[in-house]
Amino acid sequence: MKICKTIKETKETVAKWRSEGLSVGLVPTMGYLHEGHLSLIQNAVKNNDRVAVSIFVNPMQFGPDEDFDSYPRDLDRDAALCEKNGVDLIFAPEISEMYPEGFCSYVDMTGLTGGLCGKSRPIHFRGVQTVVNKLFNIFTPDRAYFGEKDAQQLAVIKRMVLDLNMNVSIVGCPIIREADGLAKSSRNSYLSPEERAAAPIINKGMSLGKKMIEDGERNAEKIIKAISDVILSVGITKIDYVSIVDSLTLEPVETIEKDVLCACAVYMGSSARLIDNFSVTV
Ligand code: AMP
Repeated sequence: MKICKTIKETKETVAKWRSEGLSVGLVPTMGYLHEGHLSLIQNAVKNNDRVAVSIFVNPMQFGPDEDFDSYPRDLDRDAALCEKNGVDLIFAPEISEMYPEGFCSYVDMTGLTGGLCGKSRPIHFRGVQTVVNKLFNIFTPDRAYFGEKDAQQLAVIKRMVLDLNMNVSIVGCPIIREADGLAKSSRNSYLSPEERAAAPIINKGMSLGKKMIEDGERNAEKIIKAISDVILSVGITKIDYVSIVDSLTLEPVETIEKDVLCACAVYMGSSARLIDNFSVTV
């Protein structure tokens, strides 16, 4: 397995694969890999001749008061996990390699990025779209793998690829959870023992919401209230949002009549903002 720090070396490696007629799968990540990332990697290894993982904590997608500095990083550990899982190349650039002096081009979107996480993280998706575009241009992958855990991100990337006629298939992969239901996340490492013990309440609330819909409840406000009540019951949580939105437009719905995404973001104590979601086909 190769670890590339530069765009030049990465492009040369990919060009060599291409000249041999090999297909390429890309898994973009910010590193500190866990089983959620590994499920994307395993899916990519199954369906592509060569698999690349990018590991880059992208400063452009963090707001000024967010956790860019404290975001966990461990390239040696990540590299060992990638090697074990059949990855061919890790792209781990420095910030100056991705954003050299004078950098001033961005990819942005209206609509899909305004609600859910976009409300409290107004510059986040511009940063995500810009870096993912750069990665797509560097790798020209046949397929790129994203987790349904970041459902809004997945919707944004799919829309961007469609709108901008990008030549890559976007593959969404299911949420991987801890045994107690907490969605795996690099940010779970921020949780104190007390917060970690309380954190599964998020999935408990969401599961109740899902069951209400499956049992026939169609009033979004009622479902959101029930989910919120459960999440707030542990006392150390603060809700950023619990929303039920149209799966395609991500616009809030009052009555559930079509496929919807129910998503939430929750602050656990002082340390972490955690997200979760489920989709329902009606
Ligand atoms: P991140 O390193 O947090 O930017 O995540 C990189 C990719 O892994 C994104 O496409 C995430 O949606 C995906 N991912 C992160 N956590 C999980 C999880 N628990 N289950 C499935 N995919 C995940």
